[in-house]
Amino acid sequence: MPELPDLEVLKVFLNQNFAGEKIVGVELKGESFLKTKFFPPEVFKNSTLERINRRGKLLIFEADNGFKLVFHPMLRGWVKEDAGEIFTFKFEGGKVLGIYEVEPVKLLQLYIVKKPENLRVLKSLGPEPIDSGFTADYLKNVAEGFKGTVKKLITTQKIVAGIGNAYADEILWDARINPFRKVSQLKSEDFENLVSSTKNVLKEAIEAISRASRGNIPPFEFREHMKIHRKEGQPCPRCGTPIEVKFEKERGTWWCPTCQKE
Ligand SMILES: [Zn+2]
Repeated sequence: MPELPDLEVLKVFLNQNFAGEKIVGVELKGESFLKTKFFPPEVFKNSTLERINRRGKLLIFEADNGFKLVFHPMLRGWVKEDAGEIFTFKFEGGKVLGIYEVEPVKLLQLYIVKKPENLRVLKSLGPEPIDSGFTADYLKNVAEGFKGTVKKLITTQKIVAGIGNAYADEILWDARINPFRKVSQLKSEDFENLVSSTKNVLKEAIEAISRASRGNIPPFEFREHMKIHRKEGQPCPRCGTPIEVKFEKERGTWWCPTCQKE
């Protein structure tokens, strides 16, 4: 699933290459992907794509006539500079931008709205972890009474937006916190570490993905910079202990049993 760093780099690419372009045509293939029915895709025709914003794991394409296309990639959604199997923008001068799934899992969601802030998927999101509003005090406050593990805490979108399974593993390794530790057992210093690791890991990931993209659309789920996620049996880059993995409902958690003691 694309997470915050993937979408942040994609957002920058889209703004550099498509913002300011006039939309001369749109094509929706597969009505089921469009979750709002108030406005047809044709509302974008003859408007200009002003900018692309990101919130959590969603992108918002904003046209100058007030309409916005909200794109939630879910597990396999991405974009390409070609007609998309799900949605396509055609621009004056021949540029094309397509929305599709790299594997057809049919989970991708699109919304056409004027006020995206009213959509439940956006309204319910917590702060952006790379913004200054995401602090140890904030996290400690919202964690009060949270039943569950620290991994669950940082992947809960209404607590903090944009972190999924993969980056949660990397953040917890960086912060030296066991992913299965109960939130009620975290100390003040753990919240400090958690917040600074979150910012550092995401920032470094954005830089790594930007470099790997070389000015093109970022590769789908580029993860070569990851240190422990999906690396069971490989030595921990910090202490050499083999990385462990545990699966719950097909979702894996990777951690170092030495650096991240329970
Ligand atoms: Zn280790």
